Amino acid sequence: GSRPPIRHFQLNNVTTTGDPIGNEERVLILTPMVKFYQEYWDNLLKLSYPHELIELGFILPKDRNGAIALKKLDAAVKKVQSGPKKNRFKGVTIMRQDFDSTVSQVEKERHALKAQTERRAAMARARNSLLFTTIGTETAWVLWLDADMVETPHSLIQDLASHNRPVIVPNCFQRYKENGVDAIRPYDYNSWAESDIALDMAKKMGPDDVIYEGYTDMPTYRPLMAMIYKENPGTDIHEEMELDGVGGTALLVKADVHRDGAMFPPFSFYHLIETEGFAKMAKRLQYKLYGLPNYLVYHYNE
Ligand code: GDP
Ligand code: MN
Repeated sequence: GSRPPIRHFQLNNVTTTGDPIGNEERVLILTPMVKFYQEYWDNLLKLSYPHELIELGFILPKDRNGAIALKKLDAAVKKVQSGPKKNRFKGVTIMRQDFDSTVSQVEKERHALKAQTERRAAMARARNSLLFTTIGTETAWVLWLDADMVETPHSLIQDLASHNRPVIVPNCFQRYKENGVDAIRPYDYNSWAESDIALDMAKKMGPDDVIYEGYTDMPTYRPLMAMIYKENPGTDIHEEMELDGVGGTALLVKADVHRDGAMFPPFSFYHLIETEGFAKMAKRLQYKLYGLPNYLVYHYNE
């Protein structure tokens, strides 16, 4: 009989550089998705990184929301993958969760402090399942992109990769109307630098307790990237700041950081969870994390 083929790979040949297009580096875009937003999809299709170098991965909850989103996602994927060659992605994986996520998806309830641990743990498990089933031998970069990210520069991947950092995160804002006038405000508070106050807080906590950012009854005095954005025109969008916690709304990670073992703890890890726990894990692996306070990407406004 014929023996199964043995595949050899030299991970040394998978480069991650500041010139990912020139080096034909594969990017895996991963999206946990409760709801399908057309604006997310339209923005994704407009990314100017060569689609033949991009693989997509999605994970949807097993409940009714997941079923509704899946139908729309399936149709959108079929359309692009059977359309003009230059728009087609290298590959697409769609997964359905095998565990329940019971938490309400209404913005206000979602953000209530007591709902956080359960919700963030479910999201962490969803991210881990998605990551461990889709990362491949040729994956150079992983771009985490939430399903409700509706607007980014088309050159997002090149722009972030050009910094050639192990982990890099843009600043996630939200558009809204103030007295009928277009305005923007910070959305994601999970990208921050550590503070002594938060470290002291952590020392006094029980082993399962988690610190959450952006809640007034838990003031950490951490410098938040969301608050560091400078609005004046001519501001350098490529200005960097070093971070200790990151959000995952849009987040570029060298695949080796994940391969080395950095994942999204669905439990208290140094009193951090999910993407913030991932940041801590990457740091424990000796990687540095960076944010771009003046490089904005936009979250949907419910
Ligand atoms: P927020 O913006 O921080 O309030 O977080 P979201 O509720 O928007 O969740 C972040 C991302 O994870 C979004 O893309 C959601 O669609 C997705 N998401 C949230 N909860 C779950 C879940 O339980 N399962 C899956 N598969 N995706 C989820
Ligand atoms: Mn969101």
